[in-house]
Amino acid sequence: MADLETFRKEARAWLEENCPASMRTPMPEEEIIWGGRGQVYKNPDAKLWLDRMAARGWTAPTWPSEYGGGGLSKAEAGVLAQELKSIGAREALSSFGIWMLGPVLLEHASEEQKREHLPKIVRGEIRWCQGYSEPGAGSDLAGLQTRCEDKGDHWLINGSKIWTSYANHADWIFCLVRTDTTKKHEGISFVLFDMTSPGVETRPILLISGSSPFCETFFTDVKVPKNQLVGVPGKGWDIAKRLLQYERMNISASGFGGADAGASLGDIARTYVGLKNGVLADADLRSRITRQMMYEQAFSLTIRRSAEQAKAGADVGPATSIVKYAAAKLNQTRTELQVEAMGSQGLGWEGEGFRRSEIMSTRAMLRAKGNSIEGGTSEVNLNVVAKRVLGLRDHQ
Ligand SMILES: Cc1cc2nc3c(=O)[nH]c(=O)nc-3n(C[C@H](O)[C@H](O)[C@H](O)COP(=O)(O)OP(=O)(O)OC[C@H]3O[C@@H](n4cnc5c(N)ncnc54)[C@H](O)[C@@H]3O)c2cc1C
Repeated sequence: MADLETFRKEARAWLEENCPASMRTPMPEEEIIWGGRGQVYKNPDAKLWLDRMAARGWTAPTWPSEYGGGGLSKAEAGVLAQELKSIGAREALSSFGIWMLGPVLLEHASEEQKREHLPKIVRGEIRWCQGYSEPGAGSDLAGLQTRCEDKGDHWLINGSKIWTSYANHADWIFCLVRTDTTKKHEGISFVLFDMTSPGVETRPILLISGSSPFCETFFTDVKVPKNQLVGVPGKGWDIAKRLLQYERMNISASGFGGADAGASLGDIARTYVGLKNGVLADADLRSRITRQMMYEQAFSLTIRRSAEQAKAGADVGPATSIVKYAAAKLNQTRTELQVEAMGSQGLGWEGEGFRRSEIMSTRAMLRAKGNSIEGGTSEVNLNVVAKRVLGLRDHQ
């Protein structure tokens, strides 16, 4: 415990000296640092901040230092997170590499693969995307058809993926492919390749919220070096499932369930609906907002508890599906209530008649519809809970 307090003092002093003042302000979405070859730094402090954090390995605090990570214990990483939060520091790097790929590389990759990829992820040099879903394989992911043939000195990949978030900005992809067409789960492999490889094409898809965060991704005779398959051919399904657990944990912890919700729902309602006898004028809305705030409070306590358990060494497991399910539901209800409280002002898409916060509310409500789909749909997560957490049998 004394060691942890010493670490806290050191971390606090280091952050005080190294976190630029402009990196201690709320981060607009367009300034999020995803890293990669194409990263443009609107604010030069963002580059300085990333470089300083990466040099200490603190973009991936618990990864071993031999792969560029911070080498911190989970408890120390928890303290670092608290100190970062207390000065309002921006996330130096947002990265699928850190949230999803790195943890499974640490568990499944060869030494050569770890040394090749992990330090670049820590430094934000390579931006990754996730090639899982296909037009005919989303919830039934193991039905994927993208072929990966052994051509002796290389793999040859043909097929397509869909909903590949940020594929058009990514440098590399972690991709599920089929190396054996005679088996379902046992025919799947996990490969890594460069998105600039000849034969890779991406086409952005426009989302209901007006943004275009993901793509259709096509592979035509893409040659991939033999040493870029992770683990054993045909054993990629275990890696794929493990990665999904990390993905769900990160989606839930990112706060879209209200764990770190921005403006208070109560304040918004008070502003737009007004008060009568000291309470919100609309009794029905008042009771629904109160219920939502209670659920959000309970959810944030649950997230805090699981963070404490993680610090104490608890593993990431299928129970992450419970939190992912709840986070999606809470965020959808929250953003809907917000729009409802704003009345017609909550229905603006653009134009001078609407404040930026109102337009953002409309878009957040529309964007939240995807929360119960991304990272596995809510129904699929409930199936995971039924089978793998509660141990219920398949209904025949
Ligand atoms: C914002 C966003 C970002 C995404 N990013 C990526 C990405 O980067 N990479 C990637 O590979 N994919 C990504 N996806 C895709 C996502 O993983 C899939 O959309 C999801 O797995 C569902 O697959 P599907 O769209 O094919 O729907 P389907 O699987 O066709 O499902 C349709 C409906 O049927 C239900 N259903 C299906 N099977 C069952 C069952 N067994 N029991 C009960 N109900 C069932 C589903 O819950 C759903 O309501 C993203 C999706 C979104 C919304």
